[in-house]
Amino acid sequence: MKDYYKILGVNRNATQDEIKKAFRQLALKYHPDRNHGDKTAEEKFKEINEAYTCLGDAEKRANYDRFGTAEGMGTGFGGFGAGAGFGGFGAGAGFGGFTDIFEDIFDDFFGTFGGYKKAKPTKGADLRYNLNITLEDAAFGSEKTIKVPRWQSCDVCNGIGAEPGTSPETCPNCKGTGHIRFQQGFFSVSKTCGKCHGTGRIITSPCKNCKGNGKVRVQREISVKIPAGVDNGSRLRLSGEGDFGSYGGPPGDLYVVINVDEHSFFKRDDMDIYCQVPLSFPKAVFGGEIEVPTLNGPAKLKIPAGTSSGKSFHLKGKGMPRLGSHQRGDQIVSVYIDVPKKLTPRQRELLEEFARISEGNVEESKGFKNKLKDLFSV
Ligand SMILES: [Zn+2]
Ligand SMILES: [Zn+2]
Repeated sequence: MKDYYKILGVNRNATQDEIKKAFRQLALKYHPDRNHGDKTAEEKFKEINEAYTCLGDAEKRANYDRFGTAEGMGTGFGGFGAGAGFGGFGAGAGFGGFTDIFEDIFDDFFGTFGGYKKAKPTKGADLRYNLNITLEDAAFGSEKTIKVPRWQSCDVCNGIGAEPGTSPETCPNCKGTGHIRFQQGFFSVSKTCGKCHGTGRIITSPCKNCKGNGKVRVQREISVKIPAGVDNGSRLRLSGEGDFGSYGGPPGDLYVVINVDEHSFFKRDDMDIYCQVPLSFPKAVFGGEIEVPTLNGPAKLKIPAGTSSGKSFHLKGKGMPRLGSHQRGDQIVSVYIDVPKKLTPRQRELLEEFARISEGNVEESKGFKNKLKDLFSV
């Protein structure tokens, strides 16, 4: 016969609390989650679990003290041979069998164990809201009102789910514990009570407002301040604006995820913005000043004489702001020569004249021809 007292490292007159404490310490030490694949630890864990299954229960302990078995005279460890509790152990599947012990012992370590839900304060779910904004909103910041559906505690029944004036009754099936214990082979198994779904209570007259759920879905209007400088994927956290927490737990948070719509004129790259503006052929040749749209309104841009298509100019500090700073990127303007599609007879006449006298007389094209020669005359 195994000495359960020795296994748990307590003496024979230890109190139930001392036994529980000793088991807790040992079980934490040898728990398979903390000793992956360690066979010795697994064996040890089975052993201390077996010892506690017996000594942790005052009645079984008394039997053990008197008869050397937990079950009293005659029966012995009847369930042992059936092996149901043991079979899946190695694979980890058999862990359900430990829940009744674990929920008592490991509440604060593992939270919900083996799928059994205990009515304890739980933080509400976090919510996500995708918000589309314009580039201008992102550049200067803005404030938007969004409508977010979320779960809230029912005001009428204060989240209890029972019609005001009535109160929930203790579930007769599980006697209010929310779970049912039964013996499976070697171990005592715990299952969520099917009648009350683990709440331990039965609502006989459900609240009309929430149909007994204790919670209601509401559309809430929430004002969101968008800081200047946000970009695609920026997440704004609105603390406490998520679903309500059950059993007095804190509410979840709301995450507003920013998507900046594509702009018809500007392309953004981090803090810089890019745009293309047309340049008339004479202005490209003679130089001059053009007006360029910026996020802050039109700005003047000096074009030097002899500007070719594709050349870009930086407008310092006309780009996007950096989030949480006064720094700003640049606006990069690239110009393209606006080739007229229709010409008046007079324009055509002058341009033909220009072409005629330019033939074989354009420096740039000579340079270009030489470049081509270098490239291909091998
Ligand atoms: Zn209600
Ligand atoms: Zn129940």
